[in-house]
Amino acid sequence: MQQDTICVQGGYTPGNGEPRQIPIVQSTTFRYMTGEDMGRLFDLEAEGYFYSRLSNPTCDAVARKICELEGGTAAMLTSSGQAANFYALFNICENGSHIVASSTIYGGTFNLISVTMAKMGIEATFVDPLCSEEELNAAFRPNTRAVFGETIANPALTVLDIEKFAKAAHSHGVPLIVDNTFATPVNCRPFEWGADIVTHSTTKYMDGHGAQIGGAIVDGGKFDWMAHADKFPGLCLPDDSYHGITYAERFGMGGAFITKATAQLMRDFGSTPSPQNAFILNLGLESLHCRMRQHCLNGQAVAEFLEKHPKVEYVNYCGLPSSPYYQIAQKYLPNGSCGVVSFGLKGGREAAGLFMKSLKLAAIETHVADARTCCLNPATSTHRQMTDEQLKAAGVPAGLVRMSCGLEGTQDLIDDIAQALDAIG
Ligand code: PLP
Repeated sequence: MQQDTICVQGGYTPGNGEPRQIPIVQSTTFRYMTGEDMGRLFDLEAEGYFYSRLSNPTCDAVARKICELEGGTAAMLTSSGQAANFYALFNICENGSHIVASSTIYGGTFNLISVTMAKMGIEATFVDPLCSEEELNAAFRPNTRAVFGETIANPALTVLDIEKFAKAAHSHGVPLIVDNTFATPVNCRPFEWGADIVTHSTTKYMDGHGAQIGGAIVDGGKFDWMAHADKFPGLCLPDDSYHGITYAERFGMGGAFITKATAQLMRDFGSTPSPQNAFILNLGLESLHCRMRQHCLNGQAVAEFLEKHPKVEYVNYCGLPSSPYYQIAQKYLPNGSCGVVSFGLKGGREAAGLFMKSLKLAAIETHVADARTCCLNPATSTHRQMTDEQLKAAGVPAGLVRMSCGLEGTQDLIDDIAQALDAIG
């Protein structure tokens, strides 16, 4: 089925006389006639719902749509993109594990891995996404359990060579986890290039209207956990905290990862999305394919305008032939990348501040990937916990402006940017 059709109709097919729109099942719990019926659910022997912290019909319908869009075998929603990335990693990492990650990932994920997960005894090595295969392979250790990167990094806008990272991960017997937030499955399906697990901050383009915080994890179903059972005891040995279930045995390659993340991590950490938020997310998904086209069109036009402007020092946008990621993007993102453009002004951090203050249509916001154009200076906001050195390694120099081109008219956006550049003086 075409992506456009899945966006509109995927995940939910009502029966005769049932609601056309996904029903919001605003219920914490579900009724059963016998204790035995419920027991079978607790033992994961029957399918159904017993408590919305673990799963809920509205959330599951939306997760199914995202699963179909990515071409995966199983998926779950989480209450945020942060929760999705944490669960995806923590599902297979534990005290003593090691992660290889691209250095240009989103600041929040960088902090999660380098600070918070380090406190749990999980170490990480960060690699330049443009590193050679030799450099990438050298980052692995015997205790490496996962490789992580973003299809299009926020805000550095580097493009991940998914095949290169998947090849290295697989040759070391571990999965590649790709955060596909900026590209969305409309523009890239990482499973087709060898990724094993895909994550999303659905807060971004999938919602697209700045209305809910959410996340998703999708399993591609191709990673053979049992073939590397020594590395993944959580999936391949009985789980004492869940009636001795061995997830990889019971649910196979297609279902083990998501079942474990739901039964164990959702149960213990509870980063559950509300059914209301899942419903709002689904409204966004219904038009994702149309919106992505306009976001990409605006992003390309703004990038081209900025590149020619005398006050602009550099522009990062993989749709520009001058971008070091242009060729990689042609391969992985042939139909467009996203609406986010980042750039530096000749006057550095000070000029960035003046420029942003002078914008009239574009608002200064933490957010990105919204219908309304917004911008920010990461060094003084989302990435302010980073040192100048870390900022540089993350591909986010202090003066960089990230502009998320929305769905407004292209000429209006360019006119707004032009008058703000004039205002710098
Ligand atoms: N991944 C990427 C690529 C992001 O851009 C973000 C947030 O900006 C996150 C994950 C975290 O998502 P959330 O803000 O929904 O927790």
